[in-house]
Amino acid sequence: MTAFHSLKKGALLVLNSGSSSVKFTVFAVEPEENRIVPFFAGQLSEIGTDAKLSAKSAAGEKMAEESWADRDTGGVPPLLPHLISWIETRLPEGMPLLAAGHRVVHGGSGLHHPVMINEHLMKELESLIPLAPLHQPQNMAAIRVLSESRTELPQVACFDTAFHHTQPTTSTTYAIPRELTEAGIRRYGFHGLSYEYISRHLSEEKPDLAKGRVVVAHLGNGSSLCALKNGRSIDTTMGFSALEGVPMGTRCGNLDPGIVIHLMREYKMDVNDLERLLYHKSGLLGMSGISNDMRALLSSNDPKAKEAVDIFCLRVAEEIARLTCAMGGIDALVFTAGIGEHSVPIRSMICKHLKWLGIELCEESNASRQPQISAENSLPVHVIPTNEELMIARHTVDLLTMRNAA
Ligand code: ADP
Repeated sequence: MTAFHSLKKGALLVLNSGSSSVKFTVFAVEPEENRIVPFFAGQLSEIGTDAKLSAKSAAGEKMAEESWADRDTGGVPPLLPHLISWIETRLPEGMPLLAAGHRVVHGGSGLHHPVMINEHLMKELESLIPLAPLHQPQNMAAIRVLSESRTELPQVACFDTAFHHTQPTTSTTYAIPRELTEAGIRRYGFHGLSYEYISRHLSEEKPDLAKGRVVVAHLGNGSSLCALKNGRSIDTTMGFSALEGVPMGTRCGNLDPGIVIHLMREYKMDVNDLERLLYHKSGLLGMSGISNDMRALLSSNDPKAKEAVDIFCLRVAEEIARLTCAMGGIDALVFTAGIGEHSVPIRSMICKHLKWLGIELCEESNASRQPQISAENSLPVHVIPTNEELMIARHTVDLLTMRNAA
């Protein structure tokens, strides 16, 4: 991050807007100390049915836990101006809102870096809706509402795909006719802000490792893995959509495309049926028939839950091996996101499949939640909490600083 002495002291709003929830984090920008510090965070959830606001200060104190059902007229856009007003009333005197940074799912083949939002960009984002029809419109709706209700507020878009633009075409190309590849049917990859955060963290905290070959396992409700070579993404498990790769909470992960043809022909499924099945009813939930939540599966005695967990761990280990191949070796493994950061047994089960690769956990360090959990003779295995929101805040500050300098 560049020095940002030219900025005023103020607040930054980071928004991650979905169809039924909006997650937000407010950061304090302290130019004199050249730092950005978390101030408070929260979310609007169950939008469209029974909206609720919850928020906590960075110190963990509850700031809100309230029903907004009376304001919920359906969808995110009508609720956002209320949320912005609520946030602004919580900002102390002398700490104005300086800008908003948005997580935007798709930057296509052309948007490789975060950008200031203007009408031209909105048209470009619109043209990318077919690539992410479930998420891009939600991200754009939040941007539009903010630009209408806070006309002067600078806004920045940070793309989940951008970090992967360094991948070679051997990683991004599907074995389909060339003209489809050229039309944009290629692997893009997601969770880029998380991988970028981990890559920067490694270069600051473990510069030797950062120069090497690292597999990062971002295991959350949505899961993917990324091969980092010298800090850059060279391959990842998600592809054209966020369905590819390992099984997730409710998403299927890798699937023989012949199944889709079969479901259409024999089960007469249409686009909507398939979207519902593959995005919302598959993965851990589909396999177990119990839950998409890893904690629920780990505490269940049902053999189907155990099998779903076993399949998840084996698939993750297999992808670690595949990404190792893409990098010509591996120097370290990093676990991050909800499951990766918190689940002792899942980390253990995954690594048991990888002994042949020189990866072995120190079960004591794993159980006591140390930042490094590898056994003495193993390749290093680290647990690094990700922070996509901070990454967006840093990008937003960088762009504001550059704009001031220009
Ligand atoms: P998202 O992809 O929605 O950002 P998160 O990164 O927050 O999700 O991860 C959510 C997942 O993390 C859920 O499946 C949850 O079960 C899992 N998780 C969180 N804490 C634990 C834990 N202690 N043990 C196992 N799984 C956990």
